[in-house]
Parts: sequence; structure tokens; C-alpha cells
Amino acid sequence: MTDVAKKIVMMMSEQGVAGLPRNYELFYEAVTGTNQDLTKELSRLGSGASQEDLDKLGRRYFAHHHGQGVFEEAQDRIASQVKDILTLLRDEQTSLQQYGKVLGDTSVKIGKPNGGSDALLDQIVKLLSEATHSTIDHGKKVVVSMNEKSAEIKKINSELERYKKLANTDPLTKLANRRAFDSHIAEVHGDKKAAMYSSLIFADIDHFKRINDTYGHIVGDKILSYVAGILSRTSGDDAFVARIGGEEFAIAHADTTEKAACDVAEQVRVAVEEKKFINNKSGVDYGPVTVSLGVCMGSEADDATDLFRKTDQALYASKNSGRNRVTRFSEIPPGNGKAFKDWLLYRKQ
Ligand code: GH3
Ligand code: MG
Ligand code: MG
Repeated sequence: MTDVAKKIVMMMSEQGVAGLPRNYELFYEAVTGTNQDLTKELSRLGSGASQEDLDKLGRRYFAHHHGQGVFEEAQDRIASQVKDILTLLRDEQTSLQQYGKVLGDTSVKIGKPNGGSDALLDQIVKLLSEATHSTIDHGKKVVVSMNEKSAEIKKINSELERYKKLANTDPLTKLANRRAFDSHIAEVHGDKKAAMYSSLIFADIDHFKRINDTYGHIVGDKILSYVAGILSRTSGDDAFVARIGGEEFAIAHADTTEKAACDVAEQVRVAVEEKKFINNKSGVDYGPVTVSLGVCMGSEADDATDLFRKTDQALYASKNSGRNRVTRFSEIPPGNGKAFKDWLLYRKQ
């Protein structure tokens, strides 16, 4: 078991928390420090927190904890619309069958010896005209109802899309979150060929704790958002950029080379280093802010977990050799570097 996993299991057992995956996730996010407020609230709950308290916290901090409910509700709503559509179609069928019967009866009457009498023909025309109008009216009503039903289904679909986006977005930086990143990488590595040409970059802000300690969390949050923006703008349109931890980011590229991936990493490093973090009002200079980066190619890893581990090793090599630099996994001497991270918390769905 990794250090993080051990710490989580110990904390959970000390606090008497049930070993449920959703509780593990709560403690994981708290232990890895992705969300400061969550960490504080969880420690405030302390031991003896009820499952209800934990779930309340989970629902507040992880949009996807609402997921079950949202998807179940959408499923119910769609099922009810489909049921209504089937009823409409069945009614329509009955109405057409009745119309067919009127036509059938009429043709029988016309075929009888006195079928051609004026009085009977008048009666038949009246009957047919009524039946035709009622069938047309019924058909029109069906069309209106069907349009309403399909509009409702469309609405449910767009609500689900909006919800899905929320569940995959980091609220502070608006980047993809850890959950989205894990799914993305697991998907790339589900296809061996695509994995061969993919690259992964990790970027971690240097001495970020110092920034928080000196200027406070609000400034820290602003700097995090700024750095996230620089990463998005510098990584290229085809990059998948995510916030995967408190002050840790990932940039994934498909169909690239080690040289191109390292160039992106270097551009990110320089862009952050050159950015002036100055308070407009007070003129306080929060800088310099720098990032350390690690790069690994998909072709160097056995699978997604291995790629995560190796990219992390490259990042920590950058940290160990002075920070504010880029290290390729391929340049680390064998047996050097240690990775600590648990990963694939959220697997491909
Ligand atoms: P290193 O150069 O080795 O990466 O040093 P560091 O201080 O950046 O790393 P460390 O892991 O010791 O500390 C990371 C800090 O990031 C601790 C935590 O206070 C801060 N942090 C994590 N998430 C957030 C956040 O959402 N907002 C703010 N303001 N700070 C955060
Ligand atoms: Mg870090
Ligand atoms: Mg850091």
C-alpha cells in the first residue's frame, strides 16, 4: 500500500468511518490537499461523524456524488416520456383500426343489392366524412404530443450534459478535474496504438505553501487560477489540461513526440516564470512564481498507472535538482526517483 493509502485507511479507522468507496474518496481528497475547505470541514467533523454527515460533505464538494440521484431522476423522466409515446402510438393504432373498420363496413354495405340507394349513399358519405375528420384530428393531436415529448427528452439530455460538465470541472480553475483526467488517460491507454504516441506532462507550483503562508489562501487561490490560465493558453489547442491536485496540473497530448512535449513543458515553465503577479491595488509583488515539470511518453510506460508514476518521477527529479525546470523521464538514471501518488482514483467509465 502507498503512503497516501495507508494514511487514509488509518484516518478512517481511527475516526470509525465505514470503509465505503465514497468515504475513501472523501478522505483521499482531504489527505492529498486538493480542497482546503473540505480538509478543514472533515477534520472539524472529527471522530464519530455519522454517515449522513459524511455524505452531506461529499454531496457539497463532489458534484458527482449527486450523480446517482441526477441520473436516476433523468432515467425515470425519460422512461415516463417513452411510456407516454407508446400510449400515444397505441391510441393512434386503435384510431386507425377503427377508421379501417368503418371503411370495411361501408364497403360491405355498398356491395349489398340496395347498396347504391341515394339515402344510404348520403348516410355513408356523412359517416365517412365524420370518421375521416376525427382520424385527422386525432393524428394532429398525436403530432403535437409527440413534439412535446421529444422537446422534453431534449431538455433532459441537455441538463445531463450540463451536469456531466460540472462533475468533470474544477470549480476554482475551470480546468478539467482529477476525475476527468483519470478517465481521459485511462481511455487513451485503452488503445495501445494511441498510447504509444501520447505524452504526459505534470507541473507543480514551486514552494506554493510559502505563498499561502505569506499572503494567505485567497491570494493563493488567485495565483492558482492564473497559473491554470497560463497552462491552458500555452499547452496548445489539442492539449487536455487538468488540475489533478492542490497545486498540481497535468497536460496530456495525443499524437506527439518527446521533443514537442518537452517544448510545450518549457514554454509553460517560461510563461509562468515571466508572468508578473502584482496586486493592482496595493502594488505588492507576489512573485516570482515558478513551476517544476516532468515529461513522460506513453511509449515509455506499460499502462496508464505506470505513465502516471513515471511522469511523477520526472517531476520530482525537477524538484530535487533545484525546481523551475523540466525533466524528461528518459533522462533519469535508472533506480533514481520515487513516486508517491495513488492514481486512477476514478477509472474509465
Ligand atoms: P514544492 O516546491 O516541493 O512543491 O513545495 P510546495 O510548498 O508547493 O508543496 P507542498 O506539497 O509542501 O504544499 C502544497 C501547498 O499547496 C499546501 C497547500 O496549502 C497548498 N494548496 C493546495 N491546494 C490549495 C488550494 O486549493 N488553494 C490554496 N490557496 N492553496 C492550496
Ligand atoms: Mg504538490
Ligand atoms: Mg508544489
